[in-house]
Amino acid sequence: MKLLEERIRKDGIVKKGNVLKVDSFLNHQMDIELINEMGKEFKRLYKDAPINKILTIEASGIGIACIVAQYFNAPVVFAKKAQSINIDGDVYTSKIQSFTHNKIYDVIVSKKYLNPEDHILIIDDFLANGCALEGLLEIIKESGATVEGVGIAVEKGFQRGGKIIREKGIRVESLAIVDGMDDESGEVFFREQ
Ligand code: 5GP
Repeated sequence: MKLLEERIRKDGIVKKGNVLKVDSFLNHQMDIELINEMGKEFKRLYKDAPINKILTIEASGIGIACIVAQYFNAPVVFAKKAQSINIDGDVYTSKIQSFTHNKIYDVIVSKKYLNPEDHILIIDDFLANGCALEGLLEIIKESGATVEGVGIAVEKGFQRGGKIIREKGIRVESLAIVDGMDDESGEVFFREQ
């Protein structure tokens, strides 16, 4: 999606350790007009899929998912990061290794909000090593719901997540795929899509 690529070129900041900061328009301050266009694009891509629920993970996925959800007339469920002590039998759980914080945490979704009749679109801001997605997929599997696909704002194509998830046969649509970044010049290189 050209609009997103242009915005990343203009306002994205390349940090050491292969981290791309998009805090000024996507996951701290949020440009709602831009995210609205992203919502339209996900709807265009998934127009034939019988999606009735959007699943994301706190925190930065939530805002994006809420705007996208309006195009699908679907509710948003977000997986909560939980203290293990609080976990009881009424929730689906999974462990996720955080790329940005380098630790493992538990995520939970109440059994009330996912069920076998659901057809899910997963939405998240970044796809890096795929750990967040794998955790969400595990939760969906536990629930018996169907995954219609994944919608990602920025995929870092030089990390392994995209390949791992697509090899499971899951449809992944990323609006911008970054194939490389240079933390000296600040340049970002996009894959032609
Ligand atoms: P994964 O689980 O695929 O390794 O990483 C996905 C999660 O890590 C995303 O939800 C996002 O919050 C965070 N993340 C991974 N790479 C980046 C990055 O380059 N920049 C930012 N801002 N977040 C990232």
